[in-house]
Amino acid sequence: MFGFKKWRRKRLMKKPFPDQWDALLNRNVPYIQHLPSNLQAKLKGLVHVFIDEKKFEGCAGLEITDEIRVTIAAQASILMLGIDDLSSFYNDLRSVLVYPKPYVVKIKSRHNSFFVQEGFQRRRGEAWSRGHVVLAWNEVKKGASDIHDGQNLAFHEFAHQLDYEYGATDQVENNYNNESHFLSWARVVGSEYQKLLQAIKRDQKTLIDDYGGTNLAEFFAVITECFFEKPRELKEKHPDLYQQLQNFYQQDPASYITVS
Ligand SMILES: [Zn+2]
Repeated sequence: MFGFKKWRRKRLMKKPFPDQWDALLNRNVPYIQHLPSNLQAKLKGLVHVFIDEKKFEGCAGLEITDEIRVTIAAQASILMLGIDDLSSFYNDLRSVLVYPKPYVVKIKSRHNSFFVQEGFQRRRGEAWSRGHVVLAWNEVKKGASDIHDGQNLAFHEFAHQLDYEYGATDQVENNYNNESHFLSWARVVGSEYQKLLQAIKRDQKTLIDDYGGTNLAEFFAVITECFFEKPRELKEKHPDLYQQLQNFYQQDPASYITVS
């Protein structure tokens, strides 16, 4: 990364945090109240960096406000609280598109070489490898309001973004069956994914949401939600997976997110 960008980020990290933003965080992102004070301070710095660098676009008539910026930036930043080096903070993300509520997109699905079906799909959010994250604002607020239910749309979509940037699930895909060299990330995440697929097949209830069985990318997004919102349960029931996510995110939420 060019020196100027890094220098700018360092300056932004030290910028005073406006009182109105503090009030918005306390109201909309209760997660922050559980963080140790050094991480709370770091989070506020990262919110400044995020808002300074990423473009927010309102869709379907939604007007972008500070409330929207701060609430979304804070949740994206929670995932990155463990980074020491500011040069790796959502570098590929350019913009966040925000709809007031779930939106409908036209989709095409190919059934064979002659037949393409067109239809509509309702979405709460999505992340594209081209540097955009799309979110439904009412769902963002809902996801942030309960920090213990393991459902958080912003965590989910920004996990997809980090997956694109770091190739987290590509690693699993490429190395899960490669026994010649031991890669614990690929082995642990790959085998936990297989276990979830088995459990879904047997109709067993699991801590990890069934939606994670859609594919590896969704699995990574779903276990990220679980890691941040149900860390103690994840650590107890899936200790190896918890350990891998702890290494990936360089954070130990089980030490401060307690059910209250
Ligand atoms: Zn997803």
